[in-house]
Amino acid sequence: MPQIGVLAVQGDFEKHLEAFVRAGVAPSDLREVRVQEDLDAVDRLVIPGGESTTVGLLLQRFGLGEAIQARAQDGMPIWGTCMGMIMLANRVEGRDQWTLGLLDITVKRNAFGAQVHSFEDAVEVKGLDEPVMGVFIRAPIVTAYGSGVDVLSTYEDKVVAVRQGHLLGTSFHPELTTDTRLHEWFLTF
Ligand code: GLN
Repeated sequence: MPQIGVLAVQGDFEKHLEAFVRAGVAPSDLREVRVQEDLDAVDRLVIPGGESTTVGLLLQRFGLGEAIQARAQDGMPIWGTCMGMIMLANRVEGRDQWTLGLLDITVKRNAFGAQVHSFEDAVEVKGLDEPVMGVFIRAPIVTAYGSGVDVLSTYEDKVVAVRQGHLLGTSFHPELTTDTRLHEWFLTF
């Protein structure tokens, strides 16, 4: 039975596992992904918030990055929140930073300014009737995107959620709220 994977090399992966349990997923259907064997056992993956430079180095060093890229080419659904969206992006603005390069977007890191460490506010998401509470922590934004990318949310005219087929990226952290609608939606991808 395939499980739901959460990349667990660094960052707030435990919060995603807790959110899936709140969404009604049995703990035995969840798996922390650290090595290729874990990835082989899952049929979808969440890349959580954290530090994109650290996680990029770890993914390259242990070959897990290539394995994730291969699974993504095969159509595995992947959702990146905050750092996870940076990891999925094809391009990072103003930096030569390694990423998985799967989502046809350019991201700008820490895009709300160094003085704005974190904030939360209501964010509309295309397809959801009611807004979600967007928790932004040194959050990235999407500054450019290809024609295959569907913009799901903007906040103050900045793109903060996108979907490209089986890939989902959000600047904010739904796992830090009690609202599980996005976790439930991702399970339908
Ligand atoms: N600023 C972090 C980065 O660039 C992302 C922050 C987060 O995931 N909360 O990696």
